[in-house]
Amino acid sequence: MVDLGEYRRRRDPRRTPEPVPAENPPAGAGGNRFVIQQHHARRLHYDVRLERDGVLVSFAVPKNLPTQPGEVHLAVHTEDHPLEYLTFHGEIPKGEYGAGSMTIWDSGRYETEKWTDNEIAVILHGEHIHGRFVFFSPGEGQNWMVRRRPDPDAAQSVPTGSVHAPTVTVEGRQLKLSNLDKVLYPATGFSKGEVIDYYTRIAPVLLPYLADRPVTLRRYPDGVDGQSFFEKNTARHAPDWVRTVELPTPGSTKGAATTHFAVVDDLATLVWLANLAVLELHVPQWTVGPRGAQHPPDLLVFDLDPGPPATVVECCRVAERVLVVLEHDGLTGYPKTSGGKGLQIYAPVRVRDPERTSTYARAVAEQLAEQTPQLVVSRMAKPARTGKVFIDWSQNNPAKTTVAPYALRARERPTVSTPLDWGEVRRCRQPSDLVFTAPEVLARVQRRGDLWAGTRQPGPPLPHHR
Ligand code: ATP
Ligand code: MN
Repeated sequence: MVDLGEYRRRRDPRRTPEPVPAENPPAGAGGNRFVIQQHHARRLHYDVRLERDGVLVSFAVPKNLPTQPGEVHLAVHTEDHPLEYLTFHGEIPKGEYGAGSMTIWDSGRYETEKWTDNEIAVILHGEHIHGRFVFFSPGEGQNWMVRRRPDPDAAQSVPTGSVHAPTVTVEGRQLKLSNLDKVLYPATGFSKGEVIDYYTRIAPVLLPYLADRPVTLRRYPDGVDGQSFFEKNTARHAPDWVRTVELPTPGSTKGAATTHFAVVDDLATLVWLANLAVLELHVPQWTVGPRGAQHPPDLLVFDLDPGPPATVVECCRVAERVLVVLEHDGLTGYPKTSGGKGLQIYAPVRVRDPERTSTYARAVAEQLAEQTPQLVVSRMAKPARTGKVFIDWSQNNPAKTTVAPYALRARERPTVSTPLDWGEVRRCRQPSDLVFTAPEVLARVQRRGDLWAGTRQPGPPLPHHR
């Protein structure tokens, strides 16, 4: 198994700071060290390396090792690395193989339970990670996978400190959690600990919708029945590793010219926010570039608000008609519940003028209101909405935000803004058909994956005729 040929071939020691292996690495078994490096390469991933026969048997694990027993992640088997790599961290220069920064995320010792050509079962004893994992190859020429195995006597992230204010390590960041038992949803007893747990587990599907978007928060330190407000200027109290962007404050009344937004690009930031009792996360329909430049909208949104006694059922009937128009115009619509009363439809688009999505959405809303005035309203005035559905096109205004998919809502129960498929919209006959709480959404995602993945593909330009 010892083979550093591939490692040497890929690297020029004059160009990379990475270790150069000894000519004749010590042979023989023995050695039970491991390291997990966080590698900010073209894509962030984790390199898991196990000492074996004088080299480091290596896997690139895009989502890091699974945290839940039974969970399986991709683990790409890569070339053996020299033992010197156990302590390597640094900057691999641009243009070189594996360019990007490499930091040590965890290290320690491991026990071998099984080691064959297509199955490696180990127990890791790191500083952060403790647990049983099995790397396995499903077949010749196929990618390896890693599964977490049930672990009767060790918790995965060993919390230190008191039970009520444990310090946890998330992706190498130390976070002090607090008031985990505090009930934030009195109607169901859902606690802050459960909020943090939900956001941690939903993170793999949620984070892509928050990435590069300045976030607006709603915190509920005293639970959903307590005070809250929309919070944008978040950066002041953020830890220094949280990504922030400074953007002009549109129509500021307080004289502040800019606002310092946080951008939720990683799990640690999400957990930090959940611990601040952030229940709702709202984002705009545009992103910022790597240096904070504000891009034009990449998503079109229709926010369908039912005017009582209308409910989400009427919203579904209107959504079906919105979809017909979108498809006619070559766009692909994606529905989600707001997690509140209504329904929202998004479509990926490409525009240059930041006002363009509003103009288009308004034209669609007005057309539908004209065709079925008994069902649809396109104007803001509240009294006009009774028993009808207001198509709020103004949510496309770049100054506005909409709740992120998979975010919790501060309703009586811990409901979630839930991505749907169009069949569910068509079949909806009563409001309860489309209410999903945090545990239900976790189960849905497990079963069906992320129904909204398509919204992250670049969309077409908007047609000229609207
Ligand atoms: P529902 O389905 O019950 O209407 P919703 O989330 O769509 O839920 P709306 O009142 O329609 O709620 O608001 C739409 C979006 O506008 C919200 O998701 C939120 O992101 C944003 N929003 C609403 N009020 C404010 C406010 N006062 N400040 C900032 N953003 C707001
Ligand atoms: Mn709404």
